Amino acid sequence: MYPEPVRAVARNSLSRGASVSEVSRALGVARSTVRDWRDRRADVRSPSTCARCFGASPWPAPDYAALLGFYLGDGCLSTHDNKVVLRVTCDAKHPAIVGDVSLLMARFARDRSVFHVQAPGCIVVQCGWKHWLCLFPQHGPGRKHERRIELEDWQSEIVDTHPAEFLRGLFHSDGCRLINTVRRAAAGGVKIYSYPRWQFSNRSEDILGLCSTTLDRLGVSWRRSSKVHISVSRRDGVAALDEAIGLKA
Ligand SMILES: [Zn+2]
Repeated sequence: MYPEPVRAVARNSLSRGASVSEVSRALGVARSTVRDWRDRRADVRSPSTCARCFGASPWPAPDYAALLGFYLGDGCLSTHDNKVVLRVTCDAKHPAIVGDVSLLMARFARDRSVFHVQAPGCIVVQCGWKHWLCLFPQHGPGRKHERRIELEDWQSEIVDTHPAEFLRGLFHSDGCRLINTVRRAAAGGVKIYSYPRWQFSNRSEDILGLCSTTLDRLGVSWRRSSKVHISVSRRDGVAALDEAIGLKA
């Protein structure tokens, strides 16, 4: 039995014209199961309940930590005409991340549709739900790097408890894993060394600070490689981060 958010994402994709095979591939669910969900569209979806307003048991803290990371990375909240929309811009080259963000949104806004909007090179995952404001009180006028971003105590507690999930959201949105190639003179000629490193880019000093303190919490060494970059390049740190957050796919 798949959790409701997975079924909700499948139904939303099907209703927007995706084929059973496409949905099956994207979510890793058997085609027969997806077909079954398609043919029983009348499923009544359980209503969304805001964990902040009404409490939720259990509070999906690991998922919240990840979605908070995505929001602080490449996400934004917009409020217009009494509507609140959460958008996270994902690279179209990483369909698994698009799926991850879609499931995370659906996990919270259970009876709301999660949409994918195509943009050049990107897929914007978006979902309208007024309680995003309760979940992300950092919303405010202007861009994130132009205002103070401070976590509330309940958010800090979740990030401290689930640092890997929070870093997954940050690095899978505003980060990249690069391969550095270095040529060094050696006996008998020039040797070429390649080594991977993770890099997080953000213009908000506060968000960079949240990234670095969370890396500390996970015991991953990092350095500030520029005004807007944090790099993890020591081999053990890269391996630890690979293990904690997974590669971008
Ligand atoms: Zn609420």
